[in-house]
Amino acid sequence: MAKPHMIAEVGDIKCIEKSANIKKQLSDLRIDTSGANRTEKKLLANVAETIEKLTNQQQAEKILGGLLVNFKDVLRSHSSGGCLPAHQLVSGQIHIGRKCADGVKIPLQEGILVHEIGHFVANKLGLYPKYEKKVSRKCKLTNYMRSNRDGRKHKNRNEEFAEVFAAYLIYGKKLQQSCKQSYEFMRDELFLGTESICR
Ligand SMILES: [Zn+2]
Repeated sequence: MAKPHMIAEVGDIKCIEKSANIKKQLSDLRIDTSGANRTEKKLLANVAETIEKLTNQQQAEKILGGLLVNFKDVLRSHSSGGCLPAHQLVSGQIHIGRKCADGVKIPLQEGILVHEIGHFVANKLGLYPKYEKKVSRKCKLTNYMRSNRDGRKHKNRNEEFAEVFAAYLIYGKKLQQSCKQSYEFMRDELFLGTESICR
């Protein structure tokens, strides 16, 4: 199989838990939304539940507390002119779109959201430099860890981090097999030593 572009394409969404009480799950962990429909709130609560299940409520709050996710039909155009599925230009906020400017629905919203949460967590807890320092071996599980779809290399390892974070939640076994250092970093820095439950 060719190397996937992003974890969102190959991750197993069934590894995401189901929250029994969406509203409570979000408010307990101090997560807010804007413009979200019922399905989107549920998705966010389910991701939060997954993180809480791996850890505990206090740690999940440390990881996610203060997050605001803005859901919009269409985000502004990408600097390259292409479709922009998400951005985090405002600190502490994820902006996530449903459609491209041409009206085409953006697929794999679940995986994209998990990837974006990875960036949020790294920013919140200052994990990019720590990851860079501790994980000497670059993870190459997806192409996007290294470069954009057009082949342009990323300037830093922030996309690698977000992809590794997403993989821990929805592609854990493969992450452990292919990127041991990255896997162990997530396990020990974020998930209180709990192994990924996505097998
Ligand atoms: Zn990213």
